[in-house]
Amino acid sequence: MKKIFLITFILIINITIIYAGQPVLESDIYNTEKGDLKITFVGHASLIFEFDNMVIHIDPFSRVWNYDNLAKADMIIITHHHGDHLDPELIKKLRKPGAPVITPELSSKDISDCIIIKNGESKRINGIEINAIPAYNIIHKRDNGDPYHKKGEGNGYILNLGGKKVYIAGDTENTPEMKELKNIDIAFLPMNLPYTMTEEMVADAANAFQPGKLYPYHCRGSDSGKLLKLLENEKNIKVLIRDFYKGMKKK
Ligand code: ZN
Ligand code: ZN
Repeated sequence: MKKIFLITFILIINITIIYAGQPVLESDIYNTEKGDLKITFVGHASLIFEFDNMVIHIDPFSRVWNYDNLAKADMIIITHHHGDHLDPELIKKLRKPGAPVITPELSSKDISDCIIIKNGESKRINGIEINAIPAYNIIHKRDNGDPYHKKGEGNGYILNLGGKKVYIAGDTENTPEMKELKNIDIAFLPMNLPYTMTEEMVADAANAFQPGKLYPYHCRGSDSGKLLKLLENEKNIKVLIRDFYKGMKKK
């Protein structure tokens, strides 16, 4: 009897240790006119929006999390063709039959049966108004002089989710198109070098278009404390820092 008790005790301890070792994904919930919007921060540039009985995956990427345990997609949205945003094998696994995949043209070649949206276009898909905003570099360039992201190749997106306007910027700098945005409730802005923005560029963009909530994402190695300091006098912008790298696998 004593032995059985001891074995059970050891088993419970082991299960607890294994369970405690698994990082858990964080989510935030917002009220909309169509019920709750739940945003889960999967990692790097990968997000999940649960809204109106749909699971929407943004830039799903198998290196940031084990997707086997996550809900399958009713819709997938891809910002551009780079490997940390476009993971064709994962799209195949994650996509429910018939689920739309929305993408710019350049990243459409590896995805069967997708919906292409160009910079500046708007489409209504599964009842959601989607606007494509150009995502590109102005200053940060490769050694050959090409910007890391050329204008026209990548999209940011504004999704209207039950009256809440959510902007996912993609890989971009603080472009004139971004700075002219209006009435953005929630913004995801990339903050890392050399591919996207410095803390100062993110602050400059936020200062211009005044999102209600600002999440820096795609932010490995950046200084969120510096961003908080740069925006401390912007009383209308709530900067929210989340951990986007807890599940990141090494190459
Ligand atoms: Zn990129
Ligand atoms: Zn990227």
